[in-house]
Amino acid sequence: MKIKKFSKKPSDFESRVGGEPVVCYPNNTIEDKNLSILHSARQHLVKISDVTIPPRDAKIFEVKSGQFFRIESIEGPQVGDLNLFNSNNLEEKFYSGKTRALYGTHLSVGDKMFSSFPYLRSLATITWDTLDWYDYDKDGGSVHDVIGTRCDPYTSKLLTNNDYHYCCHSNLTRALVREKKLKIDDAEKIVHDVLNVFMLTGFTNDTKQYFMKASPVRPGDYLEFFAETDLLGALSACPGGDCGSEHSSDNSKCFPLNVSIWKVDQEYLKNLIPSKISDYNRKHGII
Ligand SMILES: [Zn+2]
Repeated sequence: MKIKKFSKKPSDFESRVGGEPVVCYPNNTIEDKNLSILHSARQHLVKISDVTIPPRDAKIFEVKSGQFFRIESIEGPQVGDLNLFNSNNLEEKFYSGKTRALYGTHLSVGDKMFSSFPYLRSLATITWDTLDWYDYDKDGGSVHDVIGTRCDPYTSKLLTNNDYHYCCHSNLTRALVREKKLKIDDAEKIVHDVLNVFMLTGFTNDTKQYFMKASPVRPGDYLEFFAETDLLGALSACPGGDCGSEHSSDNSKCFPLNVSIWKVDQEYLKNLIPSKISDYNRKHGII
């Protein structure tokens, strides 16, 4: 935070400030021709399964390459914390930080869920967002952020000295232990920074701190993805509910979320450009 200032302003400060912002990662070279193909294909989706995520809990789901999945609000406003893995290699997982560097603080249609190094490829593309009308509000807030990491018991302990076991980090860990039969330590190590589905967040204007507001999501709203490889997903229904007041406690009203998996005749996808693992040679300058 830039509140406490101890250093004297240098005499040449005027020559050091005032530069124009330059986008760090211009993303116009990332493939986006697929979106029109995916938008045609999604007219022909056939639902094959559903998973309901109970409030203050998480569940896993599997999606095959070439299928779609939707995260849907079903009973009331509820935020979901999403982890994504290559189901054939759980070390390849969603890289929230790099996805944020490429697309900004909040994701929507056409944005890709990039995976961790050394893979760095699109695990999934967002194909539909019933909340894309929200845009950015007067406070710079928007939905579906990649800035908030996930609620977790360690930060809760640090700030309030409480042991709370139903934060998204613990819910995701528990789901991997329960359903993938991982040891708790192994599961916890692969839980990663999430896509905060439906969460309405931003940075405050003055101190640039992470803020949240009540989510505008309502039953029937959904965020839809196209799986570009075989995926294991884990979704937590955050204990913050709509995240309009607090999280990391049992005080907020919480609702379930639904994940549905959809197939489509692969004929509709025949012109799709496939997502590829990075072909950087990984020498890192070492001869
Ligand atoms: Zn949470």
